[in-house]
Amino acid sequence: MQISANKAVSIDYTLTNNQGEVIDTSSGREPLAYLQGHGNIIPGLESALEGKTSGDNVKVTVAPADGYGERDDALTQAVPRQMFENADEIQIGMQFQTMSEHGPHVVTVIGMDADNVTVDANHPLAGEILNFDVTIVEVRDASQEELDHGHVHGPDGHHH
Ligand code: ZN
Repeated sequence: MQISANKAVSIDYTLTNNQGEVIDTSSGREPLAYLQGHGNIIPGLESALEGKTSGDNVKVTVAPADGYGERDDALTQAVPRQMFENADEIQIGMQFQTMSEHGPHVVTVIGMDADNVTVDANHPLAGEILNFDVTIVEVRDASQEELDHGHVHGPDGHHH
């Protein structure tokens, strides 16, 4: 069965950046299950997998525009320390969930001084060229319930 819209797909994958460092991998875990055509995965990977079938190996390089977007320096801002409940415990690299006008958003601490904590609201992979090495494990028709929810359910039903 070929991958097309509304197929439930399981993949093994390894994601590396352009320095060859592994950013994420399904190795040692269950394959990643997603619903093709529903934006469950980044657009550049979804389009590369269209038409492929189980057992296929796909290597694809995804530019930021088809991945997590370009970095936007305007999304970096200095926040007064007193805005944080535990300001003394904040360290560079910590992530916080905040509410923005576009809904919940994860920000990463990238700097701090005596008065301010500088946070970055870019996706951690924004601006990165992403190199995927994917093996397709399974392709099947999605159930109506999965289509209604816009995501894949596990073999023993619904877990969320
Ligand atoms: Zn569901």
